[in-house]
Amino acid sequence: MQGERLNFAVGPVMMQEGIRSIGGEQIPYFRTPEFSGIMKENEALLREISGAGEGSRAVFLTGSGTAGMEMAVVNSFCRGDKLLIVNGGGFGERFEKICRLHGIPFESILLPPGTPLTEGHLSRYDNSGITGMLVNMHETSTGVLYDMEAVSSFCRRNHVFLVVDAISAFLADQIRMERWGVDVLILSSQKALALPPGMSFLILSGRAVERAGQVSVKSLYFSIPDYLKDGERGQTPYTPAVSVLLQLNARLRQVMEGGVENEIGRVQALAEYFREKIEGLPLRMFAASPSNAVTALSPTDGMSAYHYFERLDSEYNIWVCPNGGQLRDKVFRVGHIGDISEKDYDRLVGALHKIAEDGIRNG
Ligand SMILES: *Cc1c(COP(=O)(O)O)cnc(C)c1O
Repeated sequence: MQGERLNFAVGPVMMQEGIRSIGGEQIPYFRTPEFSGIMKENEALLREISGAGEGSRAVFLTGSGTAGMEMAVVNSFCRGDKLLIVNGGGFGERFEKICRLHGIPFESILLPPGTPLTEGHLSRYDNSGITGMLVNMHETSTGVLYDMEAVSSFCRRNHVFLVVDAISAFLADQIRMERWGVDVLILSSQKALALPPGMSFLILSGRAVERAGQVSVKSLYFSIPDYLKDGERGQTPYTPAVSVLLQLNARLRQVMEGGVENEIGRVQALAEYFREKIEGLPLRMFAASPSNAVTALSPTDGMSAYHYFERLDSEYNIWVCPNGGQLRDKVFRVGHIGDISEKDYDRLVGALHKIAEDGIRNG
């Protein structure tokens, strides 16, 4: 086994030492003015970084990203809606499952894995009675970043309520909530925020705040109005993952200090560094319009993608992200988020070269 464990998975990711140490401290009692102050600041910083407009609010939900997706859907839509879902992989499919479960009617734009979303896919649904749209800004399962300007324009001209899962895009690609007319933006703790898993955050536009007050939700834990009411005094209705919220505060302050553009620039530079370095390897980029957060790779020499994952793990002490289902042997993914450096990519690329060469020798 070579060197320390490196994690290029897409979440949870490598965390900074200073953020990790906060998680090792005793957990403070949280129904206090001090904690409320921190939560108020968390809300203000999340809204600012997302480019949210006047009247927007943030909801802090203890539950992984999928809980955030479900909370967003059930507080925004009902059986009388007709939604449009972009399904280009596992996370688009998850939105479909949520709607099916809750009896919310929808139509899907089914994209072959790895292909981009185009204006043509959307214009087909002009004037067709669509009332809401669900899209994963970055379909993390294939590495494709969707054209949000096209989504935004479709929703504006058709007066569609727009819910965006930006869980793996936040702090990796530029998000402009107000400019795009996003009503609900879904974030979670374990991607580029590089915090422990277990929390998701919804940023609601003024219109979404209003809508959540009108939709009747058959759920206690997922009822947004309760979170908004307690949030006015910097609190949550139920015990949150207190230490993750303290870590969030430290991380958001750090991002603001260095500048959001610089934070995104760092992720982008790492993605570009890695993509240049893999030239010459029998691997091709799988996504047509790749995000900064992830590079999805497909072996071109007949070797199984899963084989790369297994050998990197067992022989090189490196984690990348395997794919499941139909893409198991076709695609594996390398993340560019979290506390990683160019030197870490040098070690990964060295290992990829060795595995590819062995493959040729054995094949
Ligand atoms: C990671 C991720 C999620 C959240 O998944 P959980 O396992 O529930 O945290 C949702 N959507 C996208 C696009 C993601 O990348």
